[in-house]
Amino acid sequence: MSAVSPESAAFPGLVDSHCHLDFPDFDGKMAEIREEMRANGVTHALCISVNLPAFPKVLDLAQAHDNFFATVGVHPDHEVRTAVDRARLVELARHPRVVAIGETGLDYYRVSGDLEWQRERFRAHIRAARDCGKPLVIHTRQAAEDTLTIMREEDAGEVGGVMHCFTESQTVADAAVALGFHISFSGIVTFKNAAEEVARLRGISLSEVAAATTDNFFRLFKEGGV
Ligand SMILES: [Zn+2]
Ligand SMILES: [Zn+2]
Repeated sequence: MSAVSPESAAFPGLVDSHCHLDFPDFDGKMAEIREEMRANGVTHALCISVNLPAFPKVLDLAQAHDNFFATVGVHPDHEVRTAVDRARLVELARHPRVVAIGETGLDYYRVSGDLEWQRERFRAHIRAARDCGKPLVIHTRQAAEDTLTIMREEDAGEVGGVMHCFTESQTVADAAVALGFHISFSGIVTFKNAAEEVARLRGISLSEVAAATTDNFFRLFKEGGV
């Protein structure tokens, strides 16, 4: 294993592909957070939108810092039962700093009852992503089968994306990969020791993990308008 540590200049750098820095917990702490990122070799971050009223704050972060990017979308747990207009999503996604649609998906764990509204909203996000040619950030919890069915029916593979904070089975992971999606590690591995644990499990160095994941990130999430 290579001895290149995150503190070293030779370290390729890690990307946080899923963070919620617009949440009120982080208000007034951006300098501190960015310093912590630097100290841990985290070079870029993707700020994830969870609802449309909060989107301007997410976009502001991506405009204020050149190593932050933004997504636009409504989390399956948010704004319960509110329909999301596909055209509106496409319009907001036109901004060059918006690199993906999401987070979207299905969550049958935190929300119950007739969830047809959640499935319809997921479909609207996939259609918007295909309209603007930007990838998807998908959240799925206790809804793997329906998530995959809708991804197939709506041809989500045309744009691809990330299944974030993935906790489903290998079979579900294989199906998502077959559709052209990446599987993201849970947030826990972005802590220093946990990233090293991934390297150990894969039998590769932390630098190699960083180089591979950063390469995946920039191949998938591209800055630019539509
Ligand atoms: Zn999230
Ligand atoms: Zn999520």
